[in-house]
Amino acid sequence: MRALEIIERKRDGEELTTAEIEFFIRAYTRDEIPDYQAAAWLMAVYLRGMSRRETVDLTMAMAHSGEVLNLKDVLPFSVDKHSSGGVGDKTTLIVLPMVAACGVPVAKMSGRGLGFTGGTLDKLESISGYRVALSVDEFKDIVRKHGIVLCGQSGNLAPADGKLYALRDVTATVSSLPLIASSIMSKKIAAGADAIVLDVKVGLGAFMTSIEQAKQLAQLMVQIGQSVGKRTVAMLSDMNQPLGAAVGNALEVREAIECLQDRAPRDLREHCIAIAAQMLLLARHPDGDAPEYALAEYMAESAETLRDGSAFAKFRELVAAQGGDVRQVDDPSLLPSARLVEVLSAPRSGYVEQLNALDVGLAAVELGAGRERKGEPIDHAVGILVHKKVGEYVAVGEPIFTLHANDAERLARAKARLARTVVYSSTPTLPLPTFYDVVTGAEGAS
Ligand code: URA
Repeated sequence: MRALEIIERKRDGEELTTAEIEFFIRAYTRDEIPDYQAAAWLMAVYLRGMSRRETVDLTMAMAHSGEVLNLKDVLPFSVDKHSSGGVGDKTTLIVLPMVAACGVPVAKMSGRGLGFTGGTLDKLESISGYRVALSVDEFKDIVRKHGIVLCGQSGNLAPADGKLYALRDVTATVSSLPLIASSIMSKKIAAGADAIVLDVKVGLGAFMTSIEQAKQLAQLMVQIGQSVGKRTVAMLSDMNQPLGAAVGNALEVREAIECLQDRAPRDLREHCIAIAAQMLLLARHPDGDAPEYALAEYMAESAETLRDGSAFAKFRELVAAQGGDVRQVDDPSLLPSARLVEVLSAPRSGYVEQLNALDVGLAAVELGAGRERKGEPIDHAVGILVHKKVGEYVAVGEPIFTLHANDAERLARAKARLARTVVYSSTPTLPLPTFYDVVTGAEGAS
């Protein structure tokens, strides 16, 4: 088999065989195919697309390009979650302890932020001493003892995706549905998931800006999951405006702690309860035999973990188990804090019509909360608090954002960006929904 022929066949719109896809991915992972050929192949896939069967084959070839974790000795059934990335998305920090507090063990590997979207690992590292790098043995040991573990990717998981993703980033081939779907699903499968809840963000601050696009991606990922025996549910959630109020690492940890103590903004609380309930549903009914009332029951059960303090206690236990300073959880004022705190007020009265999540995310990067390139250092203390959301009334001079900065010039740039981002209306505007749709596979989109 030759790489050139495989590129030619895809270029001409033909369907690749399973053997061809496996060959290409295996050889590329071993550096036997150079980047220039892989780049040509990616562009051919980008332009010609892939059939469902090809996409499943690509997913499995990437999942098996390295180690595939077997968690069966510690977790008989592993339910995982994944977010496609957004602004102010601290869901994992809240949902994992909620699910664990309901008695369902959770073992998750998360990533770092890139560009305007934040990453769970960066948020966790706001807590002094928290170890995100664990060996597979430590990972298993912590979930066995505590029913929860949350760290960076350990082992050699889906290395083909790592290489291809970096190449896509510099060849304008990121935004292809089969490439995105196979990239996400290959990592979840390699990390040992038996069932997966996907949080597919849609809106101005997401990869997918239209509901239609997001639904197509969601359906494709659910179909991949089904084809390989992993029950998968995808929830389409709003990312036109940031989730919750806090954007920036330590600020988001503080908000996550508030949410775990049942003091969160409505959208964040609702969002986390819905995701936790779907995880419980998959974990408790792996055969899909849940009665109709089960989801409502699991939403109530998840909400109760916030009210009775059990989710907060699980989070404390997680932080302690991974070497973090629990005093910062008990007293978030001990988390890193910025030197310069400035309020940005509304220039006019009106109802908030738009509060662009992308702009808020970019302003947070401007302050130093995120990185433009992989490996760049970040400042855990800086970020933005959003005081008004779409649909709310704001009077002239009322605070709309609070900026936390450590550098006056960066602060000025972020302020200028944020000053342009809110659209006001003289007539009442509707709040944005938390979710737009849920794709379960059984019925396609519901
Ligand atoms: N996230 C991923 O992991 N892969 C993609 O291709 C896009 C988003």
